Amino acid sequence: MPRYEFRCRACGDTFEVSRPMAEASAPADCPQGHNDTVKLLSTVAVARGAAGGSSAPAPSGGGACGGACGC
Ligand SMILES: [Zn+2]
Repeated sequence: MPRYEFRCRACGDTFEVSRPMAEASAPADCPQGHNDTVKLLSTVAVARGAAGGSSAPAPSGGGACGGACGC
């Protein structure tokens, strides 16, 4: 599932969420519970056709998930 990066304007935190592309532009709450967030440029590196079922955890230096994204 692609990941999308968001930035919270309330606390300045950035976080990633994994969600279907159909919900790519849906709002996301920050791990602190704020909902004043903006979507950043996608860091998705999923090449078309290379989408396997790889469920590798691979946290990319985030640590801000806080369990909100279930990763
Ligand atoms: Zn926040």
